[in-house]
Amino acid sequence: MKSSSLYEVPIDSLIINIAIYKWDSNDFIIVDLNISAQKTENVNKEVIIGKYLCNIFPDVKKSCLYNALKRVHETGNEERFDINLYENNRIKGWRKYEAIKLKNGNIMTIYQDFTKEKELEEILNRVNNFIDNSQTIVFIWSPKSSWPVEYVSNNISDFGYSKDDFLSLKFTYKDIIHKDDLQNVINEVKEYTKNKNDKFIQVYRIITADGSIRWVDDRTTIERDSDGNVINYLGTIIDITEQKEIEDKLKESEEQFRAIAENSLMGIFIYQDTFVYVNPAITEMIGYSADELYKIKPWKLTEEKTQASFKSIINRRLSGEKFPKAWNDIKFIAKDGKPKHARLMTETIKYKGRFAGLGTIVDITDIKNTEYKLKMLAQAIEQTDEMMLITDKDGIITYVNDAYIINSGYKHSELIGNTPRVVKSDMQDDKFYKKLWRTISSGSTYTNILINRRKNKELYHEEITITPVFDEDKNIISYVATAKDISLRVEMEEELNKRANIDSLTGIYNRYRGNEIIDIQLDKYHRYNTNFAILMFDIDYFKNINDTFGHDVGDLVLKKLTKLISMHMRKSDSLIRWGGEEFIIVSEHLNENKAINLAQKLRKMIASYEFEIDSDLTVSFGATVTKPNDTKKNLLKRVDDALYQAKDSGRNCVKFL
Ligand code: GH3
Ligand code: MG
Ligand code: MG
Repeated sequence: MKSSSLYEVPIDSLIINIAIYKWDSNDFIIVDLNISAQKTENVNKEVIIGKYLCNIFPDVKKSCLYNALKRVHETGNEERFDINLYENNRIKGWRKYEAIKLKNGNIMTIYQDFTKEKELEEILNRVNNFIDNSQTIVFIWSPKSSWPVEYVSNNISDFGYSKDDFLSLKFTYKDIIHKDDLQNVINEVKEYTKNKNDKFIQVYRIITADGSIRWVDDRTTIERDSDGNVINYLGTIIDITEQKEIEDKLKESEEQFRAIAENSLMGIFIYQDTFVYVNPAITEMIGYSADELYKIKPWKLTEEKTQASFKSIINRRLSGEKFPKAWNDIKFIAKDGKPKHARLMTETIKYKGRFAGLGTIVDITDIKNTEYKLKMLAQAIEQTDEMMLITDKDGIITYVNDAYIINSGYKHSELIGNTPRVVKSDMQDDKFYKKLWRTISSGSTYTNILINRRKNKELYHEEITITPVFDEDKNIISYVATAKDISLRVEMEEELNKRANIDSLTGIYNRYRGNEIIDIQLDKYHRYNTNFAILMFDIDYFKNINDTFGHDVGDLVLKKLTKLISMHMRKSDSLIRWGGEEFIIVSEHLNENKAINLAQKLRKMIASYEFEIDSDLTVSFGATVTKPNDTKKNLLKRVDDALYQAKDSGRNCVKFL
């Protein structure tokens, strides 16, 4: 198909887009489309030439193009207009049209596709919009000495300036930089420019229109021509004042934290996957260096059997879970492999933007060891046979061990809160206890033998040591008594005493020795027929003496009486204390008469003697002499019977059997 020509110039040879339309009663028919237009519309003219516009664009009658073409057709006036092309309700492109009515009545349109430009403009608008609404202020300033501003985004109003303040050169870029930072900024820019850097970052202060100071982060791009000469600087500026204030505060608090942590005797650490901070106290405690710890997962330092549970708690912290604050005692393994006891307190914190665990730890290995030793000691005290009793300073029992409970027969609850008077017997007088108390309350240790009474009323002897315990100010805070039940020993001593020959009160032979003497005499009598007499006497109504004058006076009477009797006896005679106030005299070579005489003599002597008491004192005598085949038993029975008869017949007399 032959192409139209314009003033004899074939339209195909023109690089502008040309389309020619012809009015046909109701619609325009496309008559021609030059090559340029075919390319722009991406269509082959054979496909559309001869077609009505409404065949190609169904809604064309509502379109701007149709209406404009129709006006040109009707008025013959030339028109310029822009149209946009739609596809699926979206703008597909932009065209700038010029429509002319040709002599032959056809309408020729010369048009330009400015979709690209329009798009760029849209983008630029959007960018401007974005910049104006963003926190980033964009400056373009020229490298001329005062740095005049060629472009600035509208959001410069954030600093109180208007765009015009800069474009009218009321201010240059240098004018708004803080004077303390200006020289620095200039130097830096020079330096970067010289070094052929294209991008650099600076932080400095800017003075706003009202004179206040803002910190900015400035990222500058240098735009250069092909020779490398600077065309201008494009700076994007972000206000970081708040951020910087927070950072400064953070830095300050971090510095404080570090100052505390570095000097603390308590271990302080922060962990994430591994330790991320440890203070010197930790490295000392654990034995690993900080650098080693920064590679160690914290749960790996705990005992093997507790690792799994530590790992899970640590992971929960790292995912931000908070736990109620609490300490617990843990065992960890130091670098030397030794287990250590520690008291640990941890909490979840944020560290460098991520969750972390912050922990404090105190080495309690020594405390634990002491605790262990104490436990052992306490166990030892519980297990020992030795009795232990502790009272407070007022003598109230605060502790008794098992041995004490077993020995006293009292229950724990009957002793604690009471005083040791619970076990006191009346075998030792007030004077005795006063001395005990005086000694210990003056701060001295007291050792003696106490006669106490078990719950079952039985007496027992305890060898006790009572030691006062002092506080730091040397005040007595408690008394610790350790005691051994020596009843057995006392019994044995008593037994020994009994076996010894001498009666302790009177100094004459005791019953044990008396038995021996009778045995020996009887043996001699059987062998050599050396007969002997036994006199047995007993004080009359001695109970009255005790009751009237007291036991002490009774004792004195016994001593005096035995002394008197001994003085009136032959050397070869033996005086024996047979019982409390009952005595025996063994006298060799006496027949019945002589025995009775001796007894009478002694009885009278006693009866007439003035003891230093306001009462008469008499004795009754039984007497006997050895008979062939006598056993000790007979002999003693006979003399005992004789004494009984003397008592029975009115006392203060002598009976012989
Ligand atoms: P009688 O013999 O005449 O029948 O009357 P009695 O009062 O002496 O009675 P009995 O023999 O029953 O009492 C003996 C008293 O002697 C009882 C006891 O208190 C006292 N006695 C025994 N040994 C001692 C001692 O070593 N010292 C003192 N002070 N008294 C003693
Ligand atoms: Mg008597
Ligand atoms: Mg008697």
